Amino acid sequence: MSTLILDGCAIVSMDSGRSEHASGHIVVTGNRITAIGPGAAPRQSRTADPDTRVLDAGGCLATPGLINTHHHLYQWATMGAAADSTLFEWLTALYPVWARLDAETVQAAATAALGWLARSGCTTTMDHHYVFPRSGGDVLGATVAAAADVGVRFHPTRGSMDLGKRSGGLPPDSVVESRDEILTATQDAIERFHDPSPESMVRIGVAPCSPFTVTGELMTEAAELARRHGLRLHTHLAETADEEDFCRQRFGCTPVEYVDSLGWLGEDVWLAHAVHLDDRAIARLGATGTGVAHCPSSNGRLGAGVCRSRALLEAGVPVGLGVDGAASSEATSLLGEVRMAVLVARAAGGPKAMSVRQALELATLGGARVLGREAEIGSLEPGKLADIALWRLDGLPHSAIADPVVALVLGAPAPLELLLVNGEPVVEQDRLVRVAEDQVTAAARRAATRLRSPA
Ligand SMILES: [Zn+2]
Repeated sequence: MSTLILDGCAIVSMDSGRSEHASGHIVVTGNRITAIGPGAAPRQSRTADPDTRVLDAGGCLATPGLINTHHHLYQWATMGAAADSTLFEWLTALYPVWARLDAETVQAAATAALGWLARSGCTTTMDHHYVFPRSGGDVLGATVAAAADVGVRFHPTRGSMDLGKRSGGLPPDSVVESRDEILTATQDAIERFHDPSPESMVRIGVAPCSPFTVTGELMTEAAELARRHGLRLHTHLAETADEEDFCRQRFGCTPVEYVDSLGWLGEDVWLAHAVHLDDRAIARLGATGTGVAHCPSSNGRLGAGVCRSRALLEAGVPVGLGVDGAASSEATSLLGEVRMAVLVARAAGGPKAMSVRQALELATLGGARVLGREAEIGSLEPGKLADIALWRLDGLPHSAIADPVVALVLGAPAPLELLLVNGEPVVEQDRLVRVAEDQVTAAARRAATRLRSPA
C-alpha cells in the first residue's frame, strides 16, 4: 500500500475539537488518513515503506475535501442562457433546449462540470439529473462514467418530472415521464450503480424535481422506494416566491407543509435552497433533522432571495453548500460558495451571522452530514477516507493575510496544489490529473454548440 506524507502545511482538521495546526503533517496510507498532527511526520512513518512519497507542503493549507450538496451537471451545456430571468422564466426558456439532451452531450457536460468542481476543491459531489428525453439514451450512466473519469466521489440522484403543462405543471409535456417509467428507471439505477459500502465512490439518491414539476403521488411512491433501499431523498424546495404562490394556490399550504404531508421530512431527506421559510418551517426542519443544500450564488443569480442560514443552523438543521447547476450559477466554484455563504449571511444578518470557519464547516462536515457520510468524510482524522484539499496560500493574492483560513475563505480564489480523493491525486498544481483538460474543454464546447443549434 502506498504512503504519502504532506509535510509542513497548515491544517484545519474539522475534527470534534476543531483542531488546527499552524505547521503540521498528514500521513495517507492507501485510501485512508493514518496520522495527522503538529510538526513533522514521525520518523517511522517516513521509513516504514520505501515507496513513501513526502510532499513539502510549506506555504499550503490542508482542509477536508469540499462536499457539494446540489448540482445539475448537464447544465454546463447551457451555461449563460437567459441571464437576466426569474426562475420560472429561465426554466421555461431552457426546457425545450434540455429536451434535446442525449448521453453524449450529458457526458461531455458532466465531465467538464466535474473537472471544474474538482479544480475548486470538491472531492464529493451529488448530481440532480431530472431531464430524461425518450431518445436520449443512458444519460444517468453518462454522469456516472464522467465521475469515474475525473475521479471524484459521486452521489448521483435519479431525478424526475411527471407534472407537465397539461396537468397544471410548469414543464412542457415533452420533457416529463410517467410515474411508472420513473420508478422503474430509479430501481434500475439503484441496481446498476448504488454501492452502500463505507468506501463507496457511487451512491444513488432519489430526487423528484420540485412541487411544480412533480405530482404528490410520485413524491410518496419515490419516498417509499428510496426508504425500502435505505437511500436518501432530495428535492428542490422553497426556492422562490413564485413557488410559494404555486403551493398556496394548488395545495392550500406552504411548500414545507406540503412536503411534510407527503412524508418528505426526516434525517434521510435534504432540500435544495430552502430560501422562503418562516420560523415554523425552520423549527420543523430542525425537529425532523431534514438537511438543506444552501446555494447562495444561484439564489443571487436568479434573484430568488436570501436563505436564512443562521436561523437554520441555530435550529440544528444540517446545512451543506451547493454550487447548483452551471446554467443558474455560471462560476460553479465550491470554494466560491464558501465565500458567498459568509458574505450573504452577513449582508442579511449582520457581522456575527456567520464566521469564516463556520462557512468552511458547511462545505466540509456540513456537506458530509447532509449526504449521510460524516463517519467517512468531511474531516481530517485518522481512519477517515483520504479526501483532502491542499491549497497554496503563499502567492501574491494571499501574501499579507496571517490567518490561512481567512485567506482561503475571504481571499482571492486559492490555487490548488493537490486534491486527493480516496487517496488518489485528482488535481495537481491546478490541473486535472486523470483527464486531459484541453480535450474536456473542446468536447464541452462542441456539446454546447450542438445543443444550441441542432442539425
Ligand atoms: Zn437546482
